[in-house]
Formats: sequence, structure tokens, C-alpha cells
Amino acid sequence: MSRFNVGSTDGKRSRKYLEYISSPAWYWKRHEKLKLVTSCERCGSQEQLEIHHRTYERLGDERMEDLEVCCNPCHFREHSCIGSLIDSVLKRLA
Ligand SMILES: [Zn+2]
Ligand SMILES: [Zn+2]
Repeated sequence: MSRFNVGSTDGKRSRKYLEYISSPAWYWKRHEKLKLVTSCERCGSQEQLEIHHRTYERLGDERMEDLEVCCNPCHFREHSCIGSLIDSVLKRLA
């Protein structure tokens, strides 16, 4: 699997990120992670689960430990400082 060349600016990174999370590769990685972890790692909720990236360093080639399962409210809280664009996309995919 090829690695995305993650740009140094946030704008570039968000674009790559948005492309990636719409890809089949991400769909399967997300699926695998949700098989391993079935509840929010922050509050234990089993509803509206989403995947949060602990790091974008290996975007496109993540290790399972780079990912964190969290529910929509916890995820939203995590990202509230960087705006709602990514979260609104995540919500649509959830
Ligand atoms: Zn939660
Ligand atoms: Zn996240």
C-alpha cells in the first residue's frame, strides 16, 4: 500500500486526509479497528463510534495503535479546536 505524501501545511494535510478517509483502504482499516475495539476508548459508549487518528504520521499506512475508537461526542470534543470540516465528513461516514 502506498503512503500518502503528507504535506507540511494543514490545508494540504486536510485534503489528503479527506481523500484518504473516502478510500476503500480506509474503509477496511476502520472496519478492522472497530472489530478489535467495540466501544469508545474515552467514555465507553457503544454508539456513533468513529475512528480518531492519534497521529497522522503514517496516514495511509497506519498501525492499529495510531488509531483510537471514540464516539461522536468525544471525537467532536477532540477536534473542536481545529474547526468542523473534518468532523462533518466523519459524521457523514459514521
Ligand atoms: Zn466517548
Ligand atoms: Zn479524530
